[in-house]
Amino acid sequence: MGDENYDKIVEKISKSSGLEKEEIERRVEAKRAKLAGLISKEGAAQVIAAELGISFDNEKLKIDELLPGMRKVNIIGKIISLSPVRTFTTKKGDEGKVVNLIVADDTSNIKVVLWDTNHISLVEKGEIKEDSVIEIGNGSMRANEIHLGSFSELKPSKEKIEKVVTEKIVKEKNIADFKLSDSVSTRAFVVQAFEPKFFHVCPECKKKATQEAEGFSCAEHGKINPEKKALINLVLDDGTETIRSVLFQEAISGLNMGDLEDSENLIIQRENLLGSEFTFSGEVRMNNFFNNPEFIVGNVKEIEPDKLLAKLEEEN
Ligand SMILES: [Zn+2]
Repeated sequence: MGDENYDKIVEKISKSSGLEKEEIERRVEAKRAKLAGLISKEGAAQVIAAELGISFDNEKLKIDELLPGMRKVNIIGKIISLSPVRTFTTKKGDEGKVVNLIVADDTSNIKVVLWDTNHISLVEKGEIKEDSVIEIGNGSMRANEIHLGSFSELKPSKEKIEKVVTEKIVKEKNIADFKLSDSVSTRAFVVQAFEPKFFHVCPECKKKATQEAEGFSCAEHGKINPEKKALINLVLDDGTETIRSVLFQEAISGLNMGDLEDSENLIIQRENLLGSEFTFSGEVRMNNFFNNPEFIVGNVKEIEPDKLLAKLEEEN
């Protein structure tokens, strides 16, 4: 076992404990002196690590190294977003709580779901918040998320993380390979288009507004002047599979349908949509009503003709 290993251990002890490397080396030498040189530098470093409660058993992984199905996942990352604590009723009739985080490191980011009340209380007490660096131990990968139960560990970390990847990691995939909570993009044809639906939202909190005898109101903001939003359901087909898809305002604008409130225009545009091909990006979610996966499209792009040509030439 060479010096390289020793250096790595010292590095890791320093990172985990916050102690200077010189201080660790001093402790290593002190330990060796005490044991009359019967222990190697590396061995002494291991003892120092154990004394500081630092374990080498469970190596930490970078977020882009995580794979679906992994157990005992350990990572360190910065919280870049945090949902409010949500409560729900369990099948037994108890009250349960859940919190969703997005945790990022210098390679990627990932959704982390907290189910354990001890972990959630760290959020409730503000000990873990946006921008906190946290250490996760013994998490399980479910689809593309890390889930933390009562056997998992979650604690604030003293480690500093400067650069994190905050952009959504969107993978190009075939519809047949879509998994729940994937962020994906796919090139697909519109094979069914349903009539757009309209709804009103509060201009401040963007939540659905309630229509009253006179005007609209928001549960939080009272009487409001709402914004009108459109929603379209499409069925997309990329040759591998079809999927029901939901497009909201920003995504709909990518379909170039013109005036959505002009009903004659809509009839024409809906027919034009059938058989047209776009690149759709979004998230795969469970539709609880239909109990089916659904593609929530956030962005629609026209196929770039150059890319299409290049692909066709490749195929021929
Ligand atoms: Zn509101």
